[in-house]
Amino acid sequence: MERFLLQEQTEPFITFVLGGPGSGKGTQCAKIVETFGFKHLSAGDLLRREIASKSEYGSMILNTIREGKIVPSQVTVKLIQKEMESSDNKKFLIDGFPRSEENRMAFEKIVGTEPNVVLFFECPEAEMVKRVLDRNEGRVDDNIDTIKKRLKVFEELNLPVINYYSEKGKVFKINAVGTVDEIFEQVLPIFAACEAIKQVA
Ligand code: UDP
Ligand code: MG
Repeated sequence: MERFLLQEQTEPFITFVLGGPGSGKGTQCAKIVETFGFKHLSAGDLLRREIASKSEYGSMILNTIREGKIVPSQVTVKLIQKEMESSDNKKFLIDGFPRSEENRMAFEKIVGTEPNVVLFFECPEAEMVKRVLDRNEGRVDDNIDTIKKRLKVFEELNLPVINYYSEKGKVFKINAVGTVDEIFEQVLPIFAACEAIKQVA
């Protein structure tokens, strides 16, 4: 009976939100949550929460973030999976993940599913650097040295993920230069046109 009930449940609706550091992923996620009622899971925030809670991986995560490198996939995927499993809301915005092909494959293997939609916030490097240096959130990685490393990691490791999903026709490219509202005007029709999200509680 339980098995039957599980099968009856609707599949989750998963959106990966990608783009370089400072491309506006978090800001636009807040707008998407407001309008479409998604559960926002920022991979970076989940990792920072691990650091703050002094968990066993805290110091490793802190060092990795400081270096602008990517935390081992197992760690990040488990954190995301835990949040997904404990959420009543099955419409997920997964922000800042997957950051590499290895991340992507680990997610698909461990969680056992693919995203429905991938948003890619495209932003010139100079603009991303300016935004990160101006945001004053007290982050250990918002300094010019780490930003340069993060941009390199983004290009080398994250762009292949975007290319992979582009070939599958899942990527929606957003011009991330402009006001928050101007950018959201490009995001809105993507979800508004998506019948599938209306069927997910
Ligand atoms: N990070 C990671 N794996 C992830 C997400 C983030 O290793 O899936 C680390 C990585 O070191 C990254 C940092 O956390 O540079 C900050 O990520 P976040 O997404 O918060 O930064 P943003 O791109 O929004 O500036
Ligand atoms: Mg962010």
